[in-house]
Order: sequence, then C-alpha cells, then structure tokens
Amino acid sequence: MVLLGPPGAGKGTQAQIIAGKLGVPAISTGDIFRANVSGQTELGQQAKTYMDAGDLVPDEITVAMVKDRLAEPDAKGGFLLDGFPRTIAQAEQLRSSLSELGQALDRVLELVVDEEELVRRLSGRRMLVDGQMVQRDDDKPETVRRRLHVYQEQTAPLSGFYEGEGLLARIDAIGEVEEVTARALRALGVADDERPGAD
Ligand code: AMP
Repeated sequence: MVLLGPPGAGKGTQAQIIAGKLGVPAISTGDIFRANVSGQTELGQQAKTYMDAGDLVPDEITVAMVKDRLAEPDAKGGFLLDGFPRTIAQAEQLRSSLSELGQALDRVLELVVDEEELVRRLSGRRMLVDGQMVQRDDDKPETVRRRLHVYQEQTAPLSGFYEGEGLLARIDAIGEVEEVTARALRALGVADDERPGAD
C-alpha cells in the first residue's frame, strides 16, 4: 500500500505503526535519501541539493532507487510506501515496476491535514540524532513553504489519480497519534488488535 499526504501529516509515524500491524516493511524514500546523505554516497550527493531546496529529487533517480528496494526479499509479501510516489510519473512507473514483479497496489491511504496545522507541526518538529534533538535542514520556515508548494503542485494530483483507480481512502489526520491510527486501520479494514504473530 501507499501512504499519501503532505509534509507534516504524520506519514512517517503512521507508516511505522501501520506497517507493524500489517507485518510488512515501511519503506520511506525520504529516510533512504537521508541515510545516503549522511553516508555521503553518490546517491546522497545527487539528492542533497534538491532536498535542501525543498524540491523533489528527479524521478529517474527516485524511481530506480525504489525499484531496487522493492526487489529485496522482505518486500515480497507486501510493503508500505511512505513518501513515494510523489508525482504522477512516479505513480505510473510504480504500477509498471509492480506488474513486472507480478504485484499491484491494494490500497492508498491519504492523510488529510490543513495547511495551517502543517506549518505549525513542521516548524516545531525535531529529530533525535546521536542523542541530540535537531531540526531537519528542510524543516526551516522558507524550505517548509517550498515543500508545501511542491506538494500542492506535483503530489496532490495523486489523490485524484488513485481515486480514479478505486484505491483511495482518505482520513482526517488531526488528533492524537492513536486516534489517527485507529481511523487508518478502520479505513483499511484492519482490526486494531491485529498483530502479526498474535494468536
Ligand atoms: P520526506 O522525508 O518524505 O519529507 O522527504 C524529504 C525529501 O526527500 C523531500 O523533500 C524530497 O526532496 C526527497 N524525496 C523523498 N521522497 C521523494 C520522492 N518520492 N520523489 C522525489 N523526492 C523525494
């Protein structure tokens, strides 16, 4: 499945919880890019300029990276994508990569949060890095505005794209983490106490 929603909607948090309930890996393109930036790989160097500006990394770089990740053994039984696709071209490439693997998307869940709340959340957000709470470079106010603009222009159309395919469920993502998770699981038709390995 795919988790769709603007920066600051809580995709990363919900992706971890929902993927855990479904027993599939959560695959975040933002996390993969950040790991490559800190590891100073070639991919990281290619991605960094775009990320720092709040722009999308070009489709050809991103799509190739996701294709490799989805071919790994842990994704055979399903996966949850967080932050991908972000353009219609990526969505189309995803569909063809999955069909090559004999797979298809089951669901797309959109987390809906109004812009005022997103700006409030992103500017207050901190991450724990090496024991210290730090602000992500791209959570600075001017970059946040750019990321929200890019979302509206390039990613928001995916909502209609997946609605047209009959795959989309939308939920209100304002509220406590647990409340949003409960709404997500209801929308996906997954029981809240369902855990992989639980009797
Ligand atoms: P995120 O952690 O999902 O907010 O992603 C952080 C940054 O990584 C984004 O602002 C983009 O620069 C880049 N990124 C993540 N996912 C994608 C994607 N699917 N396509 C292009 N760029 C992406």
